[in-house]
Amino acid sequence: MSKITFDSIHTQTKQKQLTEMMHQSARVCHEINNPNPELTHCSICQSTNISFHVEKFGFQLDKCIDCGQIFCNPMPSHEQLNSYYNGPMKTFENQFFADSFENRIPIFSHRIKIIHNYVKQGLLLDIGSAIGIFIEALQRSNTALSIHCCEPSGDACTRLKQRFPKIHLYNKWLQELSFKEKYHAITLWDTIEHIEDIDAFTQKIFSLLKPGGYWFFSTPNTNSFEWQIAGKDHVQLLPPGHINLFNPNSIDILMQRHGFEVVEMQTPNGTLDVSYIDKLTQSSNKYDKQLGGFLRTNLQDKNFKQKFAQLLSTTTTAGNVFVIARKPNNE
Ligand SMILES: [Zn+2]
Repeated sequence: MSKITFDSIHTQTKQKQLTEMMHQSARVCHEINNPNPELTHCSICQSTNISFHVEKFGFQLDKCIDCGQIFCNPMPSHEQLNSYYNGPMKTFENQFFADSFENRIPIFSHRIKIIHNYVKQGLLLDIGSAIGIFIEALQRSNTALSIHCCEPSGDACTRLKQRFPKIHLYNKWLQELSFKEKYHAITLWDTIEHIEDIDAFTQKIFSLLKPGGYWFFSTPNTNSFEWQIAGKDHVQLLPPGHINLFNPNSIDILMQRHGFEVVEMQTPNGTLDVSYIDKLTQSSNKYDKQLGGFLRTNLQDKNFKQKFAQLLSTTTTAGNVFVIARKPNNE
């Protein structure tokens, strides 16, 4: 897994244009009315102990002092989100996924091995399939699972149909769908951080699973090395795209509240953290204090760097968390 680095996953074109594209899309969003009230409590743990965290692209992000959740406040309106997800930002992102397609396959190959340990056959629903990198990795693994996809972006669906003409595809938001089937497994890759009404969404996933079915998902982990060092400059503070940023504690609370059992949480890609922080510390010395002299010196050493990345993975402190949750048999 050592080839997975920040630069291999985020193409140069994306890194150059992302901020400009975000400002452009956010400007359009701010011209649209947002009737949503400011939240007075955390939607994960219900605590009223929340405080201002940072403002990005004209959107305010607050942080729950109790569970650590970082969330947009107020949440953007449906009209704003529709404009964002049907605007140039989404096409830009899909193109960036297409450009980094092969480099992203190993991330999914690792997850697929784990999925197959839990679910070998039956129906799998992939939510937010984007242009289908996971689907491609799944097919290359000769899976026995039947795959259904749910993807709201029309641009992404066109690309999905081209690549997988026989795939069972729903071009809608999950909440708009009324499924007949119940699934053995549901997958959701780096999507939950985009969801505004997290309770309704989690409930819907629970209702779509068969008893004993599994929910596999990944999301940024703010309780991680890269988030602690990058702080309020972190590249994934991206409202109105990222509006709910989790950590293992807030994930646990959400899962328990909705009746899921958390089977396992992993952060397999510590190499991503190390390469991202490498890049940040080379660009500016403002991160030196958080990083500390010891780490700043030793991270120059290739061997230390490699072992440190492994340490982040084994202690669940790398920047992306992979969650395996299960709907109990008696539900
Ligand atoms: Zn909270």
